[in-house]
Amino acid sequence: MSNPDYVNDSGNPFKLVGSDSIPGRLAVDVFGVLIGGPELAFIGGPCGVESKDQVFAVARYIADSGVKLFRAGAFKPRTSPYSFQGLGPEGLALLSAVKQEFDLGIVTEAVDLDTFSDVEQVADLIQIGARNMQNFALLRRAGHCDKPILLKRGQGATLEEWLLAAEYILSEGNPRVILCERGIRTWSNYARNTFDVSVIPAAKVLTHLPVIADPSHAAGRKELVIPCALAGVAAGADGLLVETHCQPSSALSDGQQALLPNEFLMLVNHAFKIKKCLQSINANIELCF
Ligand code: PEP
Ligand code: MN
Repeated sequence: MSNPDYVNDSGNPFKLVGSDSIPGRLAVDVFGVLIGGPELAFIGGPCGVESKDQVFAVARYIADSGVKLFRAGAFKPRTSPYSFQGLGPEGLALLSAVKQEFDLGIVTEAVDLDTFSDVEQVADLIQIGARNMQNFALLRRAGHCDKPILLKRGQGATLEEWLLAAEYILSEGNPRVILCERGIRTWSNYARNTFDVSVIPAAKVLTHLPVIADPSHAAGRKELVIPCALAGVAAGADGLLVETHCQPSSALSDGQQALLPNEFLMLVNHAFKIKKCLQSINANIELCF
């Protein structure tokens, strides 16, 4: 791991994201929600912005439940060029309307340099998706913005590659990065990806950054989402990002992994209980080692 060209004085290749680079852990304030603080943070919403009715229906449910952060992509990186690519600027306008109407913080993805500034104006937390985890120009651009960045792990990325991708953002001047484990490609093909539970405590040991879990893209099947989410919380995740849709069967992307809003709320309640349990046994990662 340690190429002498890029280690710090203590031999750590993670010069800026490393756990020895600041005292304690970083907590990132996103629209009043502290991610990486003592409480779990939740981000819910559909995969993509499809229409006003669709985002408003989910947002209403989320806001009523007390969750403060809403996710949905206006720009969708899709495997096939023929799949729904997102509504683009129109989608961003609908996200602004969600924010205004429901007082929710917006989490949405930036996919390229051309549209980064537009996303930056609307988002409270900018997602860099798995497919762009090593898009170094995009990472550098994210390093120049004053919004926090949610950096998903690439489908085939090692822990070191993921953390060095975060290092790109910090090295350009933006310290507010949240890591997100969303499953990796393995030979196991029942679930969409393999949820790498162990990478959550590993990323927390090696860095000072908050780490959240995305069980939706890890599982790819709704019946696996809640168990994976709870495993992520038990492993020390600081929060969860979960896809939620009022009519999953007609979703334009990722409907098969979307929870109904009431299922999302059930998950939130279960997750709180797991977190309480961890707190009651004082199971923080430092004590586990
Ligand atoms: C998403 O969040 O909808 C998404 C495309 O995620 P990922 O980059 O993890 O596939
Ligand atoms: Mn999705």
